Amino acid sequence: MTELITVFNQNLWLFVSLSFVFAAVIGSFLNVVVHRLPVMMKRDWQQECNHYLAEYKKPVFEQNEKALTAPIDEFPEKYNLVVPGSACPKCKTNIKPIHNLPIIGWLMLRGKCAACKNPISARYPIVELITGALVAFLAWHFGPTAEFVFSTILTFALVVLTGIDLDEMLLPDQITLPLLWLGLILNLSGTFVSMSDAIVGAAAGYLSLWSVFWAFKLLTGKEGMGYGDFKLLAVFGAWFGWQVLPLVILLSSLVGAIVGISLIAFKKLNQGNPIPFGPYIAAAGWIAMIWGESITQWYISTL
Ligand SMILES: [Zn+2]
Repeated sequence: MTELITVFNQNLWLFVSLSFVFAAVIGSFLNVVVHRLPVMMKRDWQQECNHYLAEYKKPVFEQNEKALTAPIDEFPEKYNLVVPGSACPKCKTNIKPIHNLPIIGWLMLRGKCAACKNPISARYPIVELITGALVAFLAWHFGPTAEFVFSTILTFALVVLTGIDLDEMLLPDQITLPLLWLGLILNLSGTFVSMSDAIVGAAAGYLSLWSVFWAFKLLTGKEGMGYGDFKLLAVFGAWFGWQVLPLVILLSSLVGAIVGISLIAFKKLNQGNPIPFGPYIAAAGWIAMIWGESITQWYISTL
């Protein structure tokens, strides 16, 4: 292991290239998670609701049993992150292993299903490319270190959260909460920041957006964001300390406002329609992870 680290330290570009390939392969799996996790969650919710109804409203449940147990989606009964294998959504033909190769597989098929020639979304290779590029950058920035390993795990999780939030306006607890615990545990030994900075960061991250949410709701009667957003900001507080929070909030609002206004300007979005805030927090937090200190220092020096 130490020998491998030495080799990587001497050949940083080898380390960066291998990291890119590795992350692109994982990116291919992240596509699956983005697509399937919401389906699995909705099934769990339906089951919970059915249990509740069966428990407390027995007569009603018996009358409507058929309606209540009817499947809510078109996917097969056994459905998780591994089973069934990837298939074309149109013609259900299984995808050959060679076409499952990240980025290259999609290019080989020229973005069309091998069997029915229906287009395959360019989102798949784009997610693989972005995941690969982000992790390659981390490899270059951190080198073969513990920070690289953990920031890579965080990056994978952020890619999934961004995808699911864009699709479903949802940041699943199944991802945000373990990330929060992981950040606190990592900083027990001060991997990124001291333990006290991490704990204060987690609490302050949650509470700051929670306060904004309630202030906005009391003033306008509208909900500007969701509880998942508070948890995601708490994640960055837990990982990188309370000091990064102002920067993350500032950057995410700035980017969110620019994207929101341009979407309205290009008539892609009606004013008042909600846009997911998670992707902006994720992007801002990632930027703060890399350049947080230099940005804060630059900001303080220009005051
Ligand atoms: Zn097909």
